[in-house]
Amino acid sequence: MKVLLINAGIDNKEGEPIIEGNRTRPLFPMLALPYLAAYTPPHIDVQIYDEAHGLLEHIIDADLVGISGMTMHARRMYQLADEYRQLGMPVVLGGIHVTYMNQEASEHADAVVQGEAEQLWPLLLEDFQKGELKKCYHAAIAPDLHNVPHPRLDLVAGIAYRPPNGFLNSVMSTRGCPHNCNFCCVTKMFGRKLRLRPIDQVIEEILTLPQKTPVFFNDDNLIGNTKYAKELFRALLPYRKRWGSQMSLKIAEDDELLKLAARSGCASVFLGIESMNRNNIVAINKKSVNNVDHYMDAVRKIHDVGIEIIGSFIVGLDDDDDGVFEDIYDFVDKSKIEVPLVGILTPFPGTDIYYQFEKQGRIIDTNWNKYNLAHTVFRPNKMTPEHLDIKYNELIKHLNRLRFRNDIIRFSIS
Ligand code: SF4
Repeated sequence: MKVLLINAGIDNKEGEPIIEGNRTRPLFPMLALPYLAAYTPPHIDVQIYDEAHGLLEHIIDADLVGISGMTMHARRMYQLADEYRQLGMPVVLGGIHVTYMNQEASEHADAVVQGEAEQLWPLLLEDFQKGELKKCYHAAIAPDLHNVPHPRLDLVAGIAYRPPNGFLNSVMSTRGCPHNCNFCCVTKMFGRKLRLRPIDQVIEEILTLPQKTPVFFNDDNLIGNTKYAKELFRALLPYRKRWGSQMSLKIAEDDELLKLAARSGCASVFLGIESMNRNNIVAINKKSVNNVDHYMDAVRKIHDVGIEIIGSFIVGLDDDDDGVFEDIYDFVDKSKIEVPLVGILTPFPGTDIYYQFEKQGRIIDTNWNKYNLAHTVFRPNKMTPEHLDIKYNELIKHLNRLRFRNDIIRFSIS
């Protein structure tokens, strides 16, 4: 039996970035499908096609096709699913969008999977082989992270994730996030109670990866549990790795944690700064994480230990007026964060903001191709959607001129 897993890309011009040079290709592979491949029984032949770096242009024969992606990939997922089903190949759809839009997805699939698919996957394959595939599989319990197999990165190890295009060394150590920002579906999808992978197993996996390239921790908030994070950083010390990850601004509030991160090889962090406006921070439910008055100090502390910052900002929040664009520009200019990433607020299905906007009748576009943070798909509170698009594009152009370096992450090779 042969299983084909496809990580869907984006299918047409509508989904492309508006601004030239606005990088949308991932630097690191998504781990969902490499994990599914690892959970596939050895007697089944499994292949992964990752469209992040080019759309699949020919049909690959398989007995069963699994397709995953996020909201911005949904239309491509459905297009691929329809094509494969027309050729008689059954299709299973999964991923974060499918989890929350399962009725829509099930029109294009023989089966849909809601939630974290890994531990359901062998069961689903067994059902399929018995001719008893169900229409819907729901992962009721978040899988435990003890003894998870190593993701099959060898199946996505093509040119796409080799330097300088990207890095293959993607590792997961935790899942979930203790916070619950209203624009983010991490907590809804993966839980608020952080699940921790045993540190010896994380280190063991890192040591199996190519040693000359840096490691990216694919966690949503690596410091969600500071005790665990400190232990992980201590365990990394002897190996002199260079690494990066997403984490919250709380890294700057704990000197021991910050210094340990730097000493253990942290070269770059992705931080959700989101907004310079206190009302917005309260409204998005991030006031326990982000203190607007401490931003500049936090950036200075992180820079002082030699860590570079990819700072993420959102425009179009409810208290944003025309001043937001200048505020972000000024902050980036003064703080000298290395890579500013700005996105338009996007109500992804599954997030609190999606249900809020839906109830308020503020969602004006459900073309999922446009749910890529570069298009206004809702009615903003203090400006028109058209104005937000125009000002966003101007801001990106200005920031691109301001960028201090061309490379996204300066990982030095250990
Ligand atoms: S801190 Fe980050 S990962 Fe956690 S809920 Fe907020 S945006 Fe999502």
